Amino acid sequence: MEIIRTTKQMTEIVNKLKIAGNKISLVPTMGYFHDGHLSLMKYAKENSDIVITSLFVNPTQFAPNEDFNNYPHNFDRDYKLALNERIHYIFYPDNSEMYPNDYSTTIHIKGITEKFEGKSRPTHFDGVATIVAKLFNITKPDIAIFGQKDYQQTLVIKKLVKDLNFDLEIIVLPTGREEDGLAMSSRNIYLDSDLRKKATIIYDTLANAKNLILNGEKNQSKIEKFMIDNLNKVKEIKIDFATAVYSNNLEKAMEFKSGDEIVLLIAAYLGTTRLIDNMLVTAP
Ligand code: AMP
Repeated sequence: MEIIRTTKQMTEIVNKLKIAGNKISLVPTMGYFHDGHLSLMKYAKENSDIVITSLFVNPTQFAPNEDFNNYPHNFDRDYKLALNERIHYIFYPDNSEMYPNDYSTTIHIKGITEKFEGKSRPTHFDGVATIVAKLFNITKPDIAIFGQKDYQQTLVIKKLVKDLNFDLEIIVLPTGREEDGLAMSSRNIYLDSDLRKKATIIYDTLANAKNLILNGEKNQSKIEKFMIDNLNKVKEIKIDFATAVYSNNLEKAMEFKSGDEIVLLIAAYLGTTRLIDNMLVTAP
């Protein structure tokens, strides 16, 4: 496994690999790997010839009041974990490599970026779309692999690929979870042991709301009320959003219909840690 620090070197390598006919996969990450990240790398390894994972804590997707400066980082740890997955390249640029002093371009996607995560974090998806487009251009992947954990992000990236005609396939893989259901996240290390236990309320709420729907509940506000009431059983929780919406466009229905594809979305603070999770369900 090679560590690549510059865009020039990364592009020279992929150009040669592509001429030789290799299928390239990209797993974009911000590092501090957990089994969720590693499951994306495993899929990439099984479904392509060359796996590149990028490790870059992208400053433009953090607002000034967010955790950019504290975001967990340990390259040696990540290096060993990636090595163990036998991937081929870690693309590990620094800020000045990705955003030199004269950098001035931002990609803004309308519509899907304006609700939920985008409402709470207004500049977040501009940062995501811009860095992902740059990574696609630098690594020229045939497939790019993302986690369902960041559900709205997957819709944003699919729109980016469609609107800007990127010639690649987006693969979305299921959320890796701890034994008690908590979605794996690099940010989970911020939780003290008490809040870590209480954080299972998020998965519990999603699983029970899914059951409610599978048992026939189709009224959107009843599902949402159930989710909010259940989350509020933990007094340390501060809900950002908890809702049930169409999975393709994140719009609300008054009443879902049989066959509707629904995504349950939650973002909530436990103490100062912001956690997100989601679950898909088809109305019976
Ligand atoms: P991050 O490093 O958090 O930006 O995540 C990098 C990639 O890993 C994104 O595509 C995430 O959606 C994905 N990811 C994060 N957490 C999980 C998880 N628990 N299971 C599967 N994929 C995940």
